Amino acid sequence: NPGVFRVSRVAVVGAGAAGLCVARHILSRLNHFAPPVVFELTGNVGGTWCYDERVGTNDNGRPIHSSMYRDLRTNLPKEVMMFPDFPFDPQLSSFLPHQEVQRYLEGYCQQHHIRPHIRFSTVVEDVKPVVVTAEGEQERTVWDVTSSDSSGCRKTETFDSVFVCSGLFAVLSSPVGDVLSLHTGKVLHSHEYRYAEPFSGQSVVVLGAHASGLDISIELARVGAQVTLSHGLPRLTFPLRSGIQQSSPVEAVDEDGSIRFQDGSVTSADVLLFCTGYNFRYPFLDGAQLGLDVQDHLVSPLYRFLMPPAFPSLFFIGICKIICPFPHFHCQVQFALAVLDGSVTLPSAAQMEDEVRREQREKMEQGVQQRHLLILNQDQWEYCHREISEDDKIKAAEPQADNLIMHRLTELLA
Ligand code: FAD
Repeated sequence: NPGVFRVSRVAVVGAGAAGLCVARHILSRLNHFAPPVVFELTGNVGGTWCYDERVGTNDNGRPIHSSMYRDLRTNLPKEVMMFPDFPFDPQLSSFLPHQEVQRYLEGYCQQHHIRPHIRFSTVVEDVKPVVVTAEGEQERTVWDVTSSDSSGCRKTETFDSVFVCSGLFAVLSSPVGDVLSLHTGKVLHSHEYRYAEPFSGQSVVVLGAHASGLDISIELARVGAQVTLSHGLPRLTFPLRSGIQQSSPVEAVDEDGSIRFQDGSVTSADVLLFCTGYNFRYPFLDGAQLGLDVQDHLVSPLYRFLMPPAFPSLFFIGICKIICPFPHFHCQVQFALAVLDGSVTLPSAAQMEDEVRREQREKMEQGVQQRHLLILNQDQWEYCHREISEDDKIKAAEPQADNLIMHRLTELLA
């Protein structure tokens, strides 16, 4: 039975919102789990929410993790954004400056006494499965986790399970990078954007009109930059601030340095600002060894967007896109811990893989592009609560593993 382990030690990679959520739930189940070991490469909790004015690398020569910019306010109201068991301060407005979210995560960490379990300034460099057989026990997989602290001290420790909570927002995606060589102005990614003032009076082409592209365009226009918001979405019909015009995606940069768009229009730009998102990368994992295909926009197969079917003690928290992240982490973490403590029984590895492939196939038959397979959007709530249909209720009378999962998810969220 792949779902039942006698778990004692869990390693958590990252002390952002997802990693803190894992630690919080393990610490409330110490009858089943040893206190977690949380590895965090920076000196703080909060991950993305930990604003760092620097761009590039930190004092240790490691890339700056956070993409936070100075004037960001949340794009979700705090009532939806919060962990369901830890509300924001009721005195605060619904849409918060990022400093309030950082304070909130520090409060969560303090409330649940997580900090003593975090190893700060320690990077996880390698996570490897190892098959062991203890006397009188079945073969099982444990994990060798190699980490390195700020003094360069490297060590390998063994855990029963690993939660990957390293975030999505560190490896930059720049899909039209190869057309840029002729651009004579500045090129940057939203990861390196902190505030608008240096762009005052400049012409800026912003590539991408999702949350950051829109938000940053408005910040730039506010300080008097001339913004061309270039994107492949349907034309935005809500009023944009004056100083922002929309255009189709960039086609090429011409010899004279001007930017040509797919609709044939041309502009010159002092700055090209990529708000084109991020790619998945897990430098500490060997995808092939885990049976995982890690592409720019997809990690697959992951059963329930969580675990490789062949290694159901390795969990990826929060890789889905277009979700309310904190409630999603809260749901995924509890489900993963239920798998580990044996209260959820998983189907066989082959059945899990079949389910993932079938769901992907169905989505693609409905026209979903492969790069969008991890978008949940409003399906987040179904993912967490999955309705149990009449048909399933009948099947649930039998001890079907799949139905037990659905029941368990529903119970956990009740
Ligand atoms: P992160 O916050 O990225 O944390 C990952 C942690 O892992 C980091 O602390 C990092 O240092 C650490 N780490 C990485 N690799 C290693 C390693 N190898 N070893 C050790 N440690 C490692 N969400 C909302 O709900 N509302 C919003 O308004 C909102 N706005 C956003 C605005 C921006 C600009 C961005 C980038 C994201 C926004 N999000 C928002 C999404 C936000 O990222 C999530 O809410 C959430 O904070 C992600 O948490 P995480 O723990 O998965 O990742």
